[in-house]
Amino acid sequence: MVDRETLDDRHARPAPKMRVAAYAAREAKARLGPFEIERRAPGPQDLLIDIRYCGVCHSDIHQARDEWGGALFPMVPGHEIVGAVAEAGSRVKRFRPGDVVGVGCFVDSCRACEACRAGDEQFCEKGVAYTYNGTELDGKTPTYGGYSTRITVDESYVLRIPPGLALAGTAPLLCAGITTYSPLRHFGVQAGDELAVVGLGGLGHMGVKLAKALGARVTVLSHSEAKRDDALRLGAEDFAATRDPEVFTKNAGRFDFILDTVSARHDYNAYLNLLGRNGTMVLVGVPEASPLSAVSLITRRRRLVGSNIGGIRETQEMLDFCAAHGIVSDVEVIPIQKINEAHDQTVRSDVRYRFVIDLASLR
Ligand code: NAP
Ligand code: ZN
Ligand code: ZN
Repeated sequence: MVDRETLDDRHARPAPKMRVAAYAAREAKARLGPFEIERRAPGPQDLLIDIRYCGVCHSDIHQARDEWGGALFPMVPGHEIVGAVAEAGSRVKRFRPGDVVGVGCFVDSCRACEACRAGDEQFCEKGVAYTYNGTELDGKTPTYGGYSTRITVDESYVLRIPPGLALAGTAPLLCAGITTYSPLRHFGVQAGDELAVVGLGGLGHMGVKLAKALGARVTVLSHSEAKRDDALRLGAEDFAATRDPEVFTKNAGRFDFILDTVSARHDYNAYLNLLGRNGTMVLVGVPEASPLSAVSLITRRRRLVGSNIGGIRETQEMLDFCAAHGIVSDVEVIPIQKINEAHDQTVRSDVRYRFVIDLASLR
């Protein structure tokens, strides 16, 4: 006999909807303002999550301003989400109401391709369902992010927040944390490696903390002197302001690994030249096209690689690693009504080091 839920699934009965308060950009470069969205009521495998905090990633700004092209409006950004389970569907196995959980940059993937089976869902061959500025796997239902009070997500794409982590500081781990943790692990950063983090923003300051916890000797390369004391406090051994051109001659060939988190156009060649023999520079920042010459790579057999967020299993591993090492993000908590100022300040590198929205301001 087919049970009632299976019958419902097969007939794909349209899921009931609920209305949720949010903040949206209605068109590219528009100021964000109050907006009401529809979310599906939780299905058998879904969790309905009351969002407590959502981090403000520079990718929110790139997309709300359509700097990467193809943005979908109205857009409700936000993919650094933490909250509590309000309701769990009848077939949910791993979570219960009241559990503290997180949602990162995507909310679904095909689950069948090689990338998904390897736990690299972010590289799903059919394309992941991004948390916002995308669609569900049906290719038409828009997804809306964490600048909102509630979200419905399949439990397979939800993370468990370990006890003991301060919740506001945990939100940015869901993007800034995993985006820096994943390449550090994948490319095998080890104790004693000389590692430079370029750009001390949301991603960069997480990169410093995580690389330090892995035992690397960290140098921060920042465009001005303003963040020197913070860099050392966050765990860096050394700091250099790249406005001074001598930094590039003095440090030539020094590093085993460079983590480039810069959000604005810059010259990759200048940084590649700081790598030693067989060194690796990983790009995680997504600026407009930036100059690159083959000579920068063939000299000393250097590698230039990229990395995009991380899979679900690895994100859980990162959260557990952060709990074990007492790592959270340094945050400035804001009400959602301050979101436009927060975007502008982030673009000016005027944030220490991540804005996090307290969604109590929208309830
Ligand atoms: P953020 O907090 O704004 O940090 C970016 C940092 O880049 C700034 O703090 C600043 O560091 C440096 N910077 C900014 N403008 C600069 C300029 N004109 N010249 C030189 N340096 C400049 O941004 P974020 O949230 O960390 O994101 C960083 C980038 O990563 C963004 O492009 C974002 O879209 C991308 N991202 C990628 C992934 C991925 O999976 N690959 C995930 C999340 C985000 P200093 O003040 O220290 O110089
Ligand atoms: Zn992000
Ligand atoms: Zn897939």
